[in-house]
Amino acid sequence: MARTEHHIKAHLRLIPVKACLYVVPPKAERQRIAKQFGKIRKQFAKFLAENHLEDLRRLGISEAEIDIMRETGRGPEGYTVHHKLPRHGGGTNDFSNLVLISRAIHSDIHYEMDRQLFGSKKPISQMKTGDSCWIDIPTPEGMIYIPPVLPALDNIPDSLRLKLR
Ligand SMILES: [Zn+2]
Repeated sequence: MARTEHHIKAHLRLIPVKACLYVVPPKAERQRIAKQFGKIRKQFAKFLAENHLEDLRRLGISEAEIDIMRETGRGPEGYTVHHKLPRHGGGTNDFSNLVLISRAIHSDIHYEMDRQLFGSKKPISQMKTGDSCWIDIPTPEGMIYIPPVLPALDNIPDSLRLKLR
């Protein structure tokens, strides 16, 4: 799926990067935030269905899926709710720290963060309470990430294709 890969990587480059101080909170605090998130994720989906209808439509979410979001708090197929500053790095469940994003772009953002953390010789899994480091996190603006439309890669020359990689 080379074509899909190109699309995702190009998309990732279009997301603004924010330098964030990643600080691991105490374990009890992390557990509290994780426990609350199940409920908050649903509240967030309902909030989006009620207040960001046009953005959901622009993203191509069907009216049926929007109805499900509003009624049950379940997100649309292929999308997930992401913490802009990760919980493990001190991010909260505040709506301002949450964004609805496609699963494909989401996994690329996490891959990028892991790459930087591994590069700093402090893999996320080994960071303990109080540990901190600065990382550049691709941070979508707003509560719904709508990727800009890219040209079909089949129609562009190989020279440009290499730049997108
Ligand atoms: Zn995430």
